[in-house]
Amino acid sequence: MATTTTREQQRPGYFGTYGGRFVPETLVPVLDELTAAYFELRQDADFQKEYRDLLRDFVGRPTPLTEARELSRRFGPQIWLKREDLCHTGAHKINNALGQGLVAKRLGKRRIIAETGAGQHGVATASACALLGLECVIYMGVEDMRRQLPNVYRMRLLGAEVRGVSSGTKTLKDAVNEALRDWVASVADTHYIIGSALGPHPFPTMVRDFQCVIGEETRAMIQERCGRLPDALVACVGGGSNAIGMFHPFIDDAGVRLIGVEAGGNGIELGQHAARFDGGTPGVFQGMSSVVLQNEDGQVMGTHSISAGLDYAAIGPEHAWLRAIGRAEYFRCSDADALRGFHLLSEAEGIIPALESAHALGALPSICEGLAKDSLLVVNVSGRGDKDLAEVARLEGVDIATGSSI
Ligand SMILES: *Cc1c(COP(=O)(O)O)cnc(C)c1O
Repeated sequence: MATTTTREQQRPGYFGTYGGRFVPETLVPVLDELTAAYFELRQDADFQKEYRDLLRDFVGRPTPLTEARELSRRFGPQIWLKREDLCHTGAHKINNALGQGLVAKRLGKRRIIAETGAGQHGVATASACALLGLECVIYMGVEDMRRQLPNVYRMRLLGAEVRGVSSGTKTLKDAVNEALRDWVASVADTHYIIGSALGPHPFPTMVRDFQCVIGEETRAMIQERCGRLPDALVACVGGGSNAIGMFHPFIDDAGVRLIGVEAGGNGIELGQHAARFDGGTPGVFQGMSSVVLQNEDGQVMGTHSISAGLDYAAIGPEHAWLRAIGRAEYFRCSDADALRGFHLLSEAEGIIPALESAHALGALPSICEGLAKDSLLVVNVSGRGDKDLAEVARLEGVDIATGSSI
């Protein structure tokens, strides 16, 4: 990773001009402690073995690489799917929750806090804490709790305490604020497991490292199956952790296009989408400098997406940098096209994807336009769609209790 490492070493915690650490002073010592500990553990063979063993024995890794024959037939290029939907708890989030849970144990912390939007990161964190014997408190907007009751119940079954957040819009960004407030008061015995490649240094780097297993496996498996590297990687981008985990091991391979897909929501006006690279500007939000959807006064805007996991006003700083230097490209996929992608993968390949992952699939018609038949694409299926069945049924007017239209 020559280019990346050089930049990172020039200014620790920065990706070009993005990243950094913008936090209350009380958090600086704990972030320093975490940074020092993490960079040691990164080189520690025992720690890495413990982590890799859990990925195998608890998460079920490596996840398969599945050839999507029907998608290939319809769109032209050869399309393969990286199957993060088959991870324990249903998405890639567990890779990071387990890694950070292990870091917390090494730091001697006994209590974990986390934020969650749709509940995927909350469920992953609650599972990791149950496994590792850590106390677990999850902050969740009361509006999100109402929309994702099964995940609230799952977290409670796993032994976590779910605390409803009633401030602001009662959604993800308010849950992050509340978790940060808790952390300021509890740093001595508590670690905050951030769920995406976001927030103050060292989180964007640490979360990315724990998700790199996606790209490392993809690299080994595609070489084994196809005898070469892919021409392009495609992944949806919320905060950016599944995408950066997939992209990072390929950053120095100039021939591999890195394609992120953001949530295009209902339209191009601010407030109607979560496509940060389509209307966002440089700014500081929730501990980091990145590209943010904000108005001219720097007021962070409301966002909209059909998928809770992509519905966030800022993007991870490494993506902001990869785009600035022209190494990665970003498409947008509307709610309607994501629903098309959701049905397409279900019917054509027998895999019901998460609505987040459905954005990567919904963008395939535009991505594949003009690509040669022998070009090779890997799409990351970041999660499975079980959590989204009720929402899709509601949007399409189907009563899932009876199967009839309503
Ligand atoms: C949370 C989530 C995402 C978005 O988060 P990233 O950090 O951008 O990966 C994407 N897919 C699924 C299934 C998720 O649960």
